[in-house]
Amino acid sequence: MYLKSLEVQGFKSFPDKTLIRFGDDITAIVGPNGSGKSNISDAILWVMGEQSSKTLRGAKMEDVIFGGTQKRPAVGFAEATLTLDNTDRALSYDADEVMVTRRYYRSGDGEYYINKQSARLKDIHELFMDTGLGREGYSNIGQGRIDEILSLKSGDRREIFEEAAGISKYRHRKEDTERKLAQTEDNLLRIGDKVSELELQLEPLKVQSEKARKYLELKDELQGVEIAVWLDTLDKLSAAAKKAEEDYASASFVLQQAHDDLDALYAKAETLTQTLREKDGELETVRVKVNMLQSTHQQLEGQMAVLQGNVENNNANIRRIEEELKGQEDRSSGVVAQIEQTEARIREADALIARKEADLEQLQLELTT
Ligand code: ATP
Repeated sequence: MYLKSLEVQGFKSFPDKTLIRFGDDITAIVGPNGSGKSNISDAILWVMGEQSSKTLRGAKMEDVIFGGTQKRPAVGFAEATLTLDNTDRALSYDADEVMVTRRYYRSGDGEYYINKQSARLKDIHELFMDTGLGREGYSNIGQGRIDEILSLKSGDRREIFEEAAGISKYRHRKEDTERKLAQTEDNLLRIGDKVSELELQLEPLKVQSEKARKYLELKDELQGVEIAVWLDTLDKLSAAAKKAEEDYASASFVLQQAHDDLDALYAKAETLTQTLREKDGELETVRVKVNMLQSTHQQLEGQMAVLQGNVENNNANIRRIEEELKGQEDRSSGVVAQIEQTEARIREADALIARKEADLEQLQLELTT
């Protein structure tokens, strides 16, 4: 396994995407103070999951993002990708090349990728465990760290040697197992306590269990009775529902008949209204006719009065002529003829009066019907 390249963007003093290839020809990076050499090893530490901002020479994790200069504004995130050759399968990952990427945003959100597949921090730690790289690795030793290691307590130094010997993975597993064992022993103790406590409760529980058994028996019995009652109620309800359906059907029939009768009555009422309208028309015609007849009657009565006047005059004339006839019996045949003419006129007048009286009678008859 060897380090092939490091690509950084937005990390500390590298705002632009920068690719550093570590071929056979690179053994060291040199430069003036503050030119950014240590930022490269910081980027390697960071991409391998370093969580301490102090180790990365910052106050907080956001300090790894390029913070801007007088000429350039700050950027929103930092990203670094470490590419390792893995043809010897030193990393427990089945690929000839392993790319580990870490991205961090100002919002505090961070992401890890192994060969562009999203990964957890735990996966990164497990990938580098016992390889000399990673959290407790010795491959990346910062300025003054050698002195620090030599002055450490023997226990802390052991960690570095164990990582170098590739046994820290087993030590971690052993520690995990011991922790789980201690937890299990604790649980066993608690279970023992619980068992003693339960043994004390055994006798009262027996009584309670007898009661519960009895209760269950009675409950079963009650359930049977309840089911029988329900079935009976169900039968009654079914019969009632059937009867209600029949009643409903006959009521519907009666209702339909009533509707039909009502429709017939409406039709009849319509016909009667029509007849009434016609009768009203006829009545109006009769009224007009009566009015006409009444006026004719009045005219005839006028004519009659005139004729009666004539008759009376004629009678008076007759009487006068008869008196003259008595006085002048010997008058000439011309006078006799005149008398006969006058009598003829009287007969005509009588006949006219008789006809008028007949007309009058006919009119009166029509008025009364
Ligand atoms: P020395 O030899 O003193 O150790 P060096 O060459 O290792 O120096 P570094 O310490 O890696 O240099 O780089 C420090 C430079 O990185 C400083 O100029 C600092 O301004 C710059 N720098 C660090 N963090 C950021 C950041 N977040 N944004 C912009 N520039 C940064």
